[in-house]
Amino acid sequence: DEDLALVDRDDADIAHEAALEQVPVVAVVGRPNVGKSTLVNRILGRREAVVEDVPGVTRDRVAYDAEWSGRRFTLVDTGGWAIDAKGIHLRVAEQAEIAVELADVVLFVVDAVVGATDDDAAVVKLLRRSGKPVVLVANKVDDQRFEADAAALWNLGLGQPWPVSALHGRGSGDALDAILDVLPEKSAVFGAYARGGPRRVALLGRPNVGKSSLLNRLAGSDRVVVDDVAGTTRDPVDELIELGGKEWRFVDTAGIRRRVHQTRGADFYASLRTQTALEKAEVAIVLIDASVPITEQDIRIVQQVVDAGRALVIAYNKWDLTDEERRHYLEREIERELVQIPWAPRVNVSATTGRHMDRLVPALETSLDSWDTRIPTGRLNSFLGEIVAGHPHPVRGGKQPRILFATQASTRPPRFVLFASGFIEAGYRRFVERRLREEFGFEGTPIEVSVRVRE
Ligand code: GDP
Ligand code: GDP
Repeated sequence: DEDLALVDRDDADIAHEAALEQVPVVAVVGRPNVGKSTLVNRILGRREAVVEDVPGVTRDRVAYDAEWSGRRFTLVDTGGWAIDAKGIHLRVAEQAEIAVELADVVLFVVDAVVGATDDDAAVVKLLRRSGKPVVLVANKVDDQRFEADAAALWNLGLGQPWPVSALHGRGSGDALDAILDVLPEKSAVFGAYARGGPRRVALLGRPNVGKSSLLNRLAGSDRVVVDDVAGTTRDPVDELIELGGKEWRFVDTAGIRRRVHQTRGADFYASLRTQTALEKAEVAIVLIDASVPITEQDIRIVQQVVDAGRALVIAYNKWDLTDEERRHYLEREIERELVQIPWAPRVNVSATTGRHMDRLVPALETSLDSWDTRIPTGRLNSFLGEIVAGHPHPVRGGKQPRILFATQASTRPPRFVLFASGFIEAGYRRFVERRLREEFGFEGTPIEVSVRVRE
């Protein structure tokens, strides 16, 4: 059933090349229904080549390979974001903030006919703060009658509004030219949509667990190369650090090395920083202070890594401060709090004494290998055949749903799709997931198992 492969390999290759060339990134940002997706299709000339479905925290963000006047760029559509319990206002701003963070140029789309709303105003604020170049598109200007509505958007303070009808194509060429005027040759947000190059590591953890101490310890003094990304107010800085004979890219280290100016709640920024770092990273080291009880925030950060679908290593720091009693309690806390994640490699370290620093790289490599793993379809199905024969799904209402076959839809992280003859219970799905881990390992990576029912 290889024909059921759900990911187009060729498109993944395009993404890979684009990343190596550091093709600049243009993010399309705006409220729902202003016409972002329509505009994206317009720009792509309806080629609609999906380059990479960006996994994780924001599943709805999709990157495309685009071109205008001979210039290539990655076009990121944030169109499909969902309205959730938090309320649309925060959600829009939050989504936009992440997209902006990961872009070289922002295409901000406003519905000219509706005019600027409070949500638009919230986005404008964060666009200003980001310092990124913005091209303002006044959309739905289908004919000349709406030109005045477009002109009214001057007062957003983002410069010239470009009147466009994404639906009919009117004005879109001029807006694209405006993008090219501010598009850098090379992307400064390398990593977010990248593949290839040194492996990208996010160093995460709540305040005071020892992130900057660990970074300093790993970097030593002379081997650090600071890859400074200019022109942004928040200066995300990546550091290339040589460890175990290889280069590693530690992403967004500025937020670790110095406290970022906080205008909103510290929690909001901490979690946003974690998210953006995760988006850029392939693997995360979550640092937990071993000398004090595990906190809710520690657990939340670990969960964020899992939700983002990134490889994971847990490092228990300040080991030098633990005594036998504390270590006893720590093991109980781990059993209680992290029971869902027994698969994450664990290292007990001390940034202060340098204890077990040499164990971090093997742990990172183990997790990344698992993250990259592809199980051949034949092997996957013969294994599933065995476990299904040994442990069939329970009969419900006189029916017994069967798993017909499975395919691995993606790597990074490994995602499996089970095709079934009927509804598969969550408990049974977890059973399959557990058996997959037992058989294939996947140490250090989250895996995903989803079910499609076939009529
Ligand atoms: P998104 O949620 O921002 O991605 O918005 P969509 O691209 O899905 O568009 C929302 C609605 O606006 C759809 O019904 C589109 O057909 C419509 N729309 C988008 N662009 C235009 C336009 O230029 N003119 C008009 N009249 N309608 C548009
Ligand atoms: P960050 O906020 O996560 O970057 O944490 P810092 O690196 O600033 O560390 C917070 C405090 O913990 C500092 O006083 C460090 O000296 C101390 N610290 C960090 N790592 C260790 C460790 O392994 N052992 C001990 N004893 N102290 C540590």
